[in-house]
Amino acid sequence: MSVEIALPGETERFPNGAWELPEELRMLAETVRRFMETEVRPLEDSLPHDSAGLPADLLMPLQGKARALGLWALQTPRKFGGAGLSVLGQVVVAEEAARCRMGAFFPACGAFGGNPPNVMFSATPEQFERYARPIIEGQVGRAFTAISEPSGGSDPARAIRCRAERCGDHYVINGTKTWTTHAGTAPWGVVYARTGEPGRRDGISCFIVESDTPGLSKRPIDVMTSYAPYELHFDNVRVPVDNRIGPEGGGFHLASDFLVSGRITYAAGPIGIAQYALEMAIEWVKQREVFGSRLADKQGIQWMIADSEIELRAARLLMYQAAWEADLGRDVKVDASVCKVFGTETAYRVLDRCVQMFGALGLSKEMPLERWFRDLRVKRLGEGASEVQRMIVARELLR
Ligand SMILES: Cc1cc2nc3c(=O)[nH]c(=O)nc-3n(C[C@H](O)[C@H](O)[C@H](O)COP(=O)(O)OP(=O)(O)OC[C@H]3O[C@@H](n4cnc5c(N)ncnc54)[C@H](O)[C@@H]3O)c2cc1C
Repeated sequence: MSVEIALPGETERFPNGAWELPEELRMLAETVRRFMETEVRPLEDSLPHDSAGLPADLLMPLQGKARALGLWALQTPRKFGGAGLSVLGQVVVAEEAARCRMGAFFPACGAFGGNPPNVMFSATPEQFERYARPIIEGQVGRAFTAISEPSGGSDPARAIRCRAERCGDHYVINGTKTWTTHAGTAPWGVVYARTGEPGRRDGISCFIVESDTPGLSKRPIDVMTSYAPYELHFDNVRVPVDNRIGPEGGGFHLASDFLVSGRITYAAGPIGIAQYALEMAIEWVKQREVFGSRLADKQGIQWMIADSEIELRAARLLMYQAAWEADLGRDVKVDASVCKVFGTETAYRVLDRCVQMFGALGLSKEMPLERWFRDLRVKRLGEGASEVQRMIVARELLR
């Protein structure tokens, strides 16, 4: 029996027809790396270990410098006034921008700001101008996205109980959202609430909600990371019908559209941090002496370094491939889940080895590693936990 193997056509090849990034993306990565070294890390060094971000007097000039280099609103499509970077470009930038102490949650310490939640790209022009434009122009920092509830985050189609009842030209929202990132400072956010039957995907709608709307209260939840997500409580919160994004009942589909490619870019920060930590560990073991020779000369240490390099290379290539396929407009549901699980779990494992190589110093707050270790632990749960990604991969293969 002969098996025909289809060779990829010209357009199906990886960029440049080889396993390397296009020249312009390599130059972009170089620019971001220099920016991190010369502008971001010196500022960050002046702040306490567990700082949850740069204060405005440091952040604003830094953002000005980033904008002058064109490093602004990178994920926002050109037609909305952003840089319109490809998904491949986004992961390359995110890897480099993670190379700082706060990098896991604040790439480049927030210097490249300027992106509204992706669902805003499905908003009406009026909604976009009023809410998203000030973020792209840098007048407003961020918006929050509230999907998860105390009843669960993995399966929002069933778990969302927060209800929005239509009353004339308003909706009245009641319920509780939890783990909402940026809700402490964001002036508005997008909230997914049930407008239809319980348990149904087409029973969920998406709303723009201003943070100071009467009836909306919040409290921070202390977690292992250096910043706190928020619980949001909605007590008869009135939201104009004009603030609904997309059709009633269409919220879940809007969210799903951007969740898939978001999983690819989500892996990039952890991979960038793990790479940086590995470079630091390599420098350390070349200097540190125990039992009469350098740590670098011990086979047990060499294997930790080799395994970390092997796994990071694999994670990076999976990510680049998923990003490239997404840019070609292909269905990347499986690729994105594979990339998210492998990228975040690899990064966590590599970081664990790096902490081990540094000994007690790796656990101390003298080094960024212990902070990254906590931050990367969260990455295995956020944006769809590892188990949910495995479920998606298996479901597609067994279909
Ligand atoms: C720091 C932080 C920031 C966050 N920011 C936001 C935010 O901005 N907006 C937002 O909406 N949410 C946010 N989240 C919530 C996050 O998305 C959820 O924590 C995540 O989706 C998991 O939901 P859950 O915690 O309710 O766990 P559950 O859904 O209760 O799941 C519990 C465990 O069961 C596992 N599990 C689920 N399904 C299966 C299955 N089929 N088979 C096997 N195991 C399974 C899960 O993987 C998990 O390990 C944030 C969370 C954290 C920690």
